[in-house]
Amino acid sequence: MEEIRPGLYKADLPLPKNPLKSLNCYIIQGDGETLVIDTGFNCLECHQALFKSLDDLAVRLDNTKVFVTHMHADHSGQVAELAREGAEAYCSREDAETINAGEAPFLMMDVFIRTGGFPAQELQNAVKKHPGYKYRALEQVDFKILDDGDFLSVGEYTFACIKTPGHTWGHTCLYEKDKKILIAGDHILKDITPNISLWSDSFDPLSSYLASLDLVSHLEVDLVLPGHRTIFTDLAGRIKELKEHHQVRAAEVLEVLKAQPQNAYEVAAKMTWDMPYDSFDQFPLAQKWFAASEALAHLKYLEVKGLVGRTARDGVTSFFCR
Ligand SMILES: [Zn+2]
Repeated sequence: MEEIRPGLYKADLPLPKNPLKSLNCYIIQGDGETLVIDTGFNCLECHQALFKSLDDLAVRLDNTKVFVTHMHADHSGQVAELAREGAEAYCSREDAETINAGEAPFLMMDVFIRTGGFPAQELQNAVKKHPGYKYRALEQVDFKILDDGDFLSVGEYTFACIKTPGHTWGHTCLYEKDKKILIAGDHILKDITPNISLWSDSFDPLSSYLASLDLVSHLEVDLVLPGHRTIFTDLAGRIKELKEHHQVRAAEVLEVLKAQPQNAYEVAAKMTWDMPYDSFDQFPLAQKWFAASEALAHLKYLEVKGLVGRTARDGVTSFFCR
């Protein structure tokens, strides 16, 4: 555990067999109170690492707030346990509802990804292998809901909530204006590009994500504390890179579609991915799933812009260039 600023600690919670490697859990103390930001998977490795850090800091859970930046299991997996032991849990309304919906969103996603052309036989049991499903919080959590502009305080730190939809619908960053610190969750990561997935056809998450990047780009920030990997200082520079990345990706998807109409799975297989495998066929199932849902997010973005159309055949959606 590392003390980054007075009373602000970063604990690395290992994410077993996951390309993200670990989760940055931030623990902030002051005036006898504690704020825990993000919790790791509901798995033994994360449990041991989190509770060791809490013990080292002599945290009393009945005097602790736990905030989850978004509903993904690497951030929310242990929130039920912390709440059961007395902590007050905080989250946006959208993501709190998804956490408490249990497996229903995964089953919906399963149907949705089938329409994207994911081979049915590969998809058998895919949900059960999905890390978000395997390591999710298993009990209902009585969340206190935080909305855009609400504040969350501990000791010397007062954070404003900034809703940043895109990575998830209710993703929320925390901003400490006086100390110029942004707790970024998975909205902005330094070493990896946050995954933007289409999880329902009624949203255009990539457009929301790009708008949410603009939303935080004007903030005065000296230190960005992301959900994974390296903490960093150049917020504006990283936002610029991420926006460029998505424009390049969108252009790549259009280029792939120029040859012939294709479904999202076929598009994903032809896109370039920063993965340690020779071909798309070798990707683990969960990574193929993320790739297909990211391809869908780009296809939806291009469709809303009027550049791509779609047709449906035998329950599978095929996309074409307009
Ligand atoms: Zn994450």
